[in-house]
Amino acid sequence: MKRGFYVGRFQPYHNGHKSVIDAIAGEIDELIIGIGSADISHEPRHPFTAGERVLMISRALKNTEIPIYIIPLEDVRRNALWVAHVTSMAPPFHAVYTANSLVIQLFREAGIPVTSPSLYRREMLSGTAVRARMVAGEAWEACVPHEVAEVIREIHGIERMQQIAKTD
Ligand code: NAD
Repeated sequence: MKRGFYVGRFQPYHNGHKSVIDAIAGEIDELIIGIGSADISHEPRHPFTAGERVLMISRALKNTEIPIYIIPLEDVRRNALWVAHVTSMAPPFHAVYTANSLVIQLFREAGIPVTSPSLYRREMLSGTAVRARMVAGEAWEACVPHEVAEVIREIHGIERMQQIAKTD
């Protein structure tokens, strides 16, 4: 039984994240998705709540063949304690998938193997680029799975992002 751990902020969950999960699902028996910065929402870089991100990811991955556990993870002030925080909240795992340099470093120091999946269409598929399109009123739906677009419309996510992006 090989259980993998993939962590992200998923603000929002987009097709770059999907490409990673499609690629690793064949290598592992079960996947844990950690929703990082679960305590932060309604900010320009973190517009969606942990629950909204759970909804986006669980709907987008409903047909995935391996079991998936989605675990919201609050940030902790001390990076040196973060891996212990993660392992105290998530089911046990044997491999970490991330291209985030701090996350790579923290798991390596803890002796947990890390693989860095390649980036897919990064110029267009980054949380920053997708959020910028949303705020600017540009086309964004093609950047995310259609289930995610559905959730964002349901929660009036674009209106929220445009409102919190305003200056007073
Ligand atoms: P993210 O949503 O930006 O990315 C998640 C993963 O997807 C990353 O590995 C990223 O490289 C990958 N990815 C993004 N775009 C891609 C693309 N186009 N193609 C392929 N892969 C792509 O999230 P993140 O910033 O990496 O999330 C890390 C989380 O861990 C954050 O919430 C952070 O706060 C948390 N963290 C917390 C602490 C602490 O609390 N002290 C310490 C370290 C990390």
